[in-house]
Order: sequence, then structure tokens, then C-alpha cells
Amino acid sequence: MAYVAMARKWRPQSFSDMVGQEHIAQTLQNAIEGGRLHHAFLFTGTRGVGKTTSARILARTLNCTGGDPLHPCGQCESCKDISGGNPMDVFEIDAASNTGVDNIRDVIERVQYPPVIGKYKIFIIDEVHMLSTGAFNALLKTLEEPPEHVIFIFATTEVNKVPQTILSRVQRFDFKRLSVEQIRSRLRYICEQEGINATDETLDVFAEKADGSMRDGLTYFDQAYAFTGSDMTADAVRSVLGIPPVELFFTLITAIEGHDLKGCFKMVDDACKRGIEFTPLLDGFGKFLRNLLYTRLDAFTPDVLNVSEDLYSKYKSAVPSLKNGDILRISKMLIDLQATLRYSTNPRLLVETTFARMAWLDHLTDLRRALAAINDPSKAGASDEALKKKVTEVQNMLDAEEEAKALQQREENPFAALQQGISTGYSVPTYSRYELAAAWNSIRARIADSEGFAMSVALNDTVLETGDLQQTPFPVALTYLSETAEDSWGAKQMDEHPEYLERLKQILEEYLQTAVSLSIKTRVFNEAEQQIRKQAQMSPYELDLEKEPGLQKLKQLFAAELIYSHKSARPVVPQQSEGCDSDNDDNA
Ligand SMILES: [Zn+2]
Repeated sequence: MAYVAMARKWRPQSFSDMVGQEHIAQTLQNAIEGGRLHHAFLFTGTRGVGKTTSARILARTLNCTGGDPLHPCGQCESCKDISGGNPMDVFEIDAASNTGVDNIRDVIERVQYPPVIGKYKIFIIDEVHMLSTGAFNALLKTLEEPPEHVIFIFATTEVNKVPQTILSRVQRFDFKRLSVEQIRSRLRYICEQEGINATDETLDVFAEKADGSMRDGLTYFDQAYAFTGSDMTADAVRSVLGIPPVELFFTLITAIEGHDLKGCFKMVDDACKRGIEFTPLLDGFGKFLRNLLYTRLDAFTPDVLNVSEDLYSKYKSAVPSLKNGDILRISKMLIDLQATLRYSTNPRLLVETTFARMAWLDHLTDLRRALAAINDPSKAGASDEALKKKVTEVQNMLDAEEEAKALQQREENPFAALQQGISTGYSVPTYSRYELAAAWNSIRARIADSEGFAMSVALNDTVLETGDLQQTPFPVALTYLSETAEDSWGAKQMDEHPEYLERLKQILEEYLQTAVSLSIKTRVFNEAEQQIRKQAQMSPYELDLEKEPGLQKLKQLFAAELIYSHKSARPVVPQQSEGCDSDNDDNA
């Protein structure tokens, strides 16, 4: 016997089979029974929730002559005609591939002829929002004055794209997404009918992955059934559908809790070997973190969370040293990762690095030290060549990231941070110890905004210089740069106002998320800084001149230095326009 896909075999045949859309079935039934039938319907909702199926049921029901107004008999001429596959009175048009006016003209032409077998001529237009404006306009006339024997059923996933003129002429039904319970109970029914053994846990794997779509749920069910046969275990189903088992996430979170980088990398490797893709892996981890928080907060019962009692208590006792705040921060990092993953040229490395960062959440800047420790020949595990290679890769990636961030900081509009602060209240960005110098502009902008003018001015002509990057508290010197070695004005201000220094220290600690020891230094500009300073003071004209090849040659030959430039007066051609002062004052 040929295998018939479950999705087809168990497609609902009448309104009483429709799962999750009982409100719609009820309204339609009432209308049919009461004889108050609208001539145009619009079914909206996300994909796979039963819009087209309901349209077909409605068409069958309306044209059935079997006597029961609610259940198509399947025996009468109309029912047979429809199930025959090429019905004479029911037309299905997929607007996604028939968008034009001509397709609609074809429909309109058919509208004029009475039905052949049934009572109505029924037009089902799927994805109706895809029709062109011309096609909608052509349709409108028929919708305004339809012949008695015509019924239109439109279906769409994007009702906002359907013109108002159409919307005002149809009876609209909104289809709901299906809950996990609704999909599970439909699958349970199918299992009973088909003699398939499956636990609730197994069926929930389908129901969760289906994400509100019955059709998707049935497709996954088919996919797994072809592989497992009548004995469906949750593990086998997960494996077929590429869904990571929850144990993987317990391993990961335990590695994160223990700052175990090797464990994080191993988990990713493990997932890859099982053929799990990153998108379901990260989705699964997100769900896992949510369940972890919910069980800790006693917010929901095991039943509501869709987990067994055993699993619930496992969640509850997991990773005790991670605080709820840590789990929220990990979730935030995960969400950021999910957003950037699809743009990444090396998704695996990105996932691994992010997991490593999660593992070193409270010591983010020590990540390099941890990596170095793995490479240390005196430590166990250093002989693992694959791991060493991985560590080098991660180190390179950290380097590239830091460079990119620093560059971005330099190019960033210094007012951006200020504007953000005004509109959202300060969300303090955090920086690694390596990024402090680059972050200085944004910190200054914040001080100018929130600490007042006097303190802000006292910080002019400064850079931040850092000491030993591994030392805690982290040594930072607020360094005043001047032409001479004398104390600068700003340094004196800081000396007279110790509260400025204290406040700056607090702000730095906030940005770096670590203890800071802050000192004040004064020094003269070094050569590179002199150069930058000089260039900053030059006019654009002088900057151009500096690049002039003749001058460069002169400099080279005589070690010459440009100390003064004079722009010669050129004759200015007066403008021809009249009634307008020409701006021709000579610059002698
Ligand atoms: Zn019938």
C-alpha cells in the first residue's frame, strides 16, 4: 500500500475536526444554519494554522447535498467531484503566482456562469495580498455586486497588505496560532488511530518545534515517522529533527559556571558532531535559560513549562553559583549572538567565543590569561593540539574585535553617547581593559553631560594611560599632556577638587566593571603626539602644502621645516550676476 503522508491523511474533513479554530468553525456553522451567508470571506493568520483547509471545508460544506448542513457527506455528486481533484464548481487560485489583471479577468468571466453541480460557484484565492493593484481593482466591481451563486474565500498571511476597499466588503476571520497542547492532542489522536507509540515528551518535541503551525507539526511528525516507525522515542525524534537534547545545555551551563572554556568548546564540538545546527542550538539554549529562571523564581509549575517533575527539580538545583542576574546577562549575550550570527563568516568561532565570554563573564579581561593558561606546557591539556589551535583562533579573533571596536570608537560621533544618555538615561557600556584609551571620548562626553562644566574642563588635554593589564585594582593614570614639563592648569584643578578624581574613578569602575586605582600624571607630548597636535592646528591649506612634492623634496634635501606660509593674492574674476554683491575682497 502506498504511504500516504500523515499531514494529508489526517487533514480535517469537517469543521468538527478543526483544531484550535473552534471560534471560527462555530461562527461559520451558525451562518450556514441560519442561512445568513456572506458572499465573501477573508481568512487571515500565520502560516499553517488551517486557513486554506478551512476554506476547502467551507466549500465542500456549502455545496454538499447530503442533507447535513455541517458535515460534508463525502458521497454526493458535489463531494465526489471535489475529492476527485478537478472540481467543476470550486476554483483555487494561488495569488502568489497569479498576481496580474489577466488572472482576475479569467475569474470574473467564470463568475457569470452558474454552478454545474452544487449550489454555489466558489473561488478560493490564496495569499490574496499578492494581487496587483490592477487585479484588486478588477476584482472590486464583482465584489460589489456579486451574482447570487458566487462565493469568494480569500486567505492571507499579511492582511495589512490587503486594500481597505476589499477589507470593507468581506467577512473577516482571524485564525489563531495553535498552542503546544492543541498540537500535542491532535498528534495524540493520530497516534491512537495509527497505532504509534509515543510519549507526551515525544509529541511535545513536535509541538514545540511546530511553533503554532499545525501543518508544520504534521510535517515534522511525518519526517520522524518515516525514520522511527511505530515506536517514536523523544531522543530519536530530536535526532531526526536536529533538536539538541537538554543534557547538552546542562553541560554548557555547568561549564560556564565553572569558567571551563574547554568544556564550552567541547559542547559546541559535540553539538556539531550530532549534526545540530547553530540556530536550533541557540534557540534551545534560550529556552533552557528561560526555564532555568522560571523554575528558580517558582513562576510556573512543571506542567505549564512543559517539563517533567524530574527535569524541573534538575533545573532548580542547577548551577547554584550563578545568580539570576548572571543568567539574565548570559541571556542578553545569547540574544546579541543570535542577532549577529547570520552575518558571520565563521559562525562556529563566533558561537565558541561567545560561550567562552559567558564562562568568563565576571572576569572578561582575564579571558586572555585563561587562554594562555591552556597553552601553558606545564598545565594538563596543553598537549591537545586541536585545543591549542582553537585557543590561537580565539586569541586572533579577540585581537580583531578589539581593533574594530577601537576604530569604531575613534570614528564615533562624540555626541552620540550624550544623545543616547538624554533619551534613554545612561545605559553604561562596558569596555575591556584594552579598550580604555579608545573609550575615553565617550566617557568625556558623559562627564560633560552629567558631571557639569567645571569637572569636564578640568579634564582637557588628557589621555588615559594604563599600567599592568593583569593587576587588580587596575592601575589607570589620568595623564595631562603639555608643551612644557610644568604642571598644567587641569592638573591643578584636579588637585584642588579631590571629589573630581573620586567621581572619575567611580565612572571608570562602572565602565570597566572592575576595581580601579586612579592616579594623576603630567608629561610633555611625545613625538607622535606633537605631530598629531601640529597637524590639528594646521589649516587645510597648510595640510595640503605639507603633501606638496616640491616641498617634501626641499625638506628632504635641507632638513627644512615649514614655519610660515603666505597665500599670494590672485586676481579675482568678478562675477557676472547683477544685483548681488560679489565676494571679491582680496586676501593679501
Ligand atoms: Zn456531500
